[in-house]
Amino acid sequence: MAHVLVFTEFANGQLKKGSLELLSAARKSGLKIQALALGTGAKGLADALGKEGVDEAIVGDNAAFDKYNPELFTEVVAGILSGKKPEVVLASSTMLARDLFPRVAARIGTGVTSDCTEIEISSSGDVKARRPMYAGKCTAEVAFENSPSKIVLMRPNQLTITPATAAKSPTVEEVSAPAKDLKTLVKEIVKGTSGKLDLTEANIIVAGGRGMKEPGNFKMLEDLADVLGATVGASRAVVDAGWVPHTMQVGQTGKTVAPTLYIAAGISGAIQHLAGMSGSKVIVAINKDANAPIFQKATYGIVGDAFEIVPLLTEEFKKLLHH
Ligand SMILES: Cc1cc2nc3c(=O)[nH]c(=O)nc-3n(C[C@H](O)[C@H](O)[C@H](O)COP(=O)(O)OP(=O)(O)OC[C@H]3O[C@@H](n4cnc5c(N)ncnc54)[C@H](O)[C@@H]3O)c2cc1C
Repeated sequence: MAHVLVFTEFANGQLKKGSLELLSAARKSGLKIQALALGTGAKGLADALGKEGVDEAIVGDNAAFDKYNPELFTEVVAGILSGKKPEVVLASSTMLARDLFPRVAARIGTGVTSDCTEIEISSSGDVKARRPMYAGKCTAEVAFENSPSKIVLMRPNQLTITPATAAKSPTVEEVSAPAKDLKTLVKEIVKGTSGKLDLTEANIIVAGGRGMKEPGNFKMLEDLADVLGATVGASRAVVDAGWVPHTMQVGQTGKTVAPTLYIAAGISGAIQHLAGMSGSKVIVAINKDANAPIFQKATYGIVGDAFEIVPLLTEEFKKLLHH
């Protein structure tokens, strides 16, 4: 029987939202599901994976996998795919996966497509995927040729999470980190300091642009974000100006996000910005120019001065959410 292998990512013993999306898509195909999890605590995920309808959990519960090392991961993942020969491999289009899977594909001689927004998997393991091109101006349908394992990297927040109808008790297979002389050693991974959810996983985003006038004014957006439990994002103009780090950039050359609520303050809505956020469910735009292009995408538009509106929203949400 054809099978699909899902490369899962997790944090604090919980599967990430993107992985739950992939598992939902895998279940929809009706194929046998294998899930691969690498890093300390991976073994503890077996139950959670079973609840997601996984038949076989392949776990590398080893601290060697905690810091992403391209050489090590390529070796291990390519080895697993060569052995298991899944017809389809699904992973979230994260920085890690976009670095890892082209290497794996080259190693095992198969095809890979990244940044996909739609996928259809047939019961025989054929795949049709769709991905945006030219900053979202058009989309391309991707098919595979001569690819023993079709590797598809899906943008997070594009697939619907559906509950599994029946839990399974997956078989658990452990993988070890090969004792191989690596040419590179990852000593430390320095994370952003915010402690907030990464933009790609955030359910609510408050983003600011050049209309915020100067870096210090982002404090106003952080205050609103704190009340809403949101993550702060930004346009490229303010990233290029050095106001905020690139990790906060939303758009074609930044992150693609699709939260439930996206509040854009002082952002004009250039096509390259829209490319990264137009998949948001509800968009609220605050801009003092009634003709700003962002209003064409906005669910709710507030024509006004962000310096007046943002603090008002913060106060009102505070009353509403925290009595
Ligand atoms: C190859 C390429 C890739 C790019 N990638 C990205 C990307 O990934 N992400 C991205 O964002 N951009 C990207 N850009 C840049 C993009 O084209 C725009 O230049 C950028 O998005 C503009 O940022 P902005 O909206 O903050 O600034 P502006 O376009 O300067 O807009 C500022 C807005 O603030 C409003 N405003 C001013 N004062 C106030 C106030 N007091 N209250 C309310 N509103 C106010 C103005 O009316 C205006 O609409 C890319 C460009 C290129 C060429």
